[in-house]
Amino acid sequence: MQHGPLRNAYLDALGIDRWVRRDGPAETAIEALAETPAVIEAAPPAKPTAEAVPVPARVREPLGPITDWGVLRERVASCTACDLCKTRTQTVFGVGNTLADWLIIGEAPGGEEDRQGEPFVGRAGQLLNAMLLAIGLPRETVFIANILKCRPPGNRDPKPEEVSNCLPFLSAQIALLKPKIILAVGRIAAQNLLATDAPLARLRGKLHHFGEANTPLVITYHPAYLLRTPADKRKAWDDLKFARATYQRLVTN
Ligand code: SF4
Repeated sequence: MQHGPLRNAYLDALGIDRWVRRDGPAETAIEALAETPAVIEAAPPAKPTAEAVPVPARVREPLGPITDWGVLRERVASCTACDLCKTRTQTVFGVGNTLADWLIIGEAPGGEEDRQGEPFVGRAGQLLNAMLLAIGLPRETVFIANILKCRPPGNRDPKPEEVSNCLPFLSAQIALLKPKIILAVGRIAAQNLLATDAPLARLRGKLHHFGEANTPLVITYHPAYLLRTPADKRKAWDDLKFARATYQRLVTN
């Protein structure tokens, strides 16, 4: 967990107001926010509803057992299973700590990610870093991946057949990583992981589960959306606190 000026700087980046005691020194933002009526009203339930969700049905042929990150990386890099291989600069496998407890899942590479070969770079990436650091997770301590490993032209939404072709790679990443918790950012990631058309607003604030390992899954907004809609940063902060509390329950039980 980050403390002091550094964490405050990241909370500022998130657009979260910091609270100062009238009769004392500045309080930590996380605990202080819990005392703010508006946050209490918007906070997820203390005992979230657990929803077991089946593995999405539209997954292509299994890749077969892959027990090595290098082999999986090569399989992704050489993949031509959908038309996105024709327009990509390179595949974007994912980045981070392969021993991480936390897996962050986004939608698909954008233009900068396609050029750099890394997910969540640019302004959205900086905001994601700020969101993670606000709950004590430097970027290098988590693993970050996308539903799609290749950029859809013009950043359009992924097509169902693209998702069905690419999801096995994500499932293989999850099988290797064995994360304790997944944080899905954005509607596209959430809907595809949960195989639902439900709007993001109905998916937030609940504990879901994903895949054969029944990995706990929490949903929040995509940082690119938050850059366009800063008013929802407070809801995202609620989601992050919910995810952090869920993780802490998991590791202490
Ligand atoms: S998006 Fe996924 S399935 Fe399609 S070519 Fe890229 S790696 Fe293969």
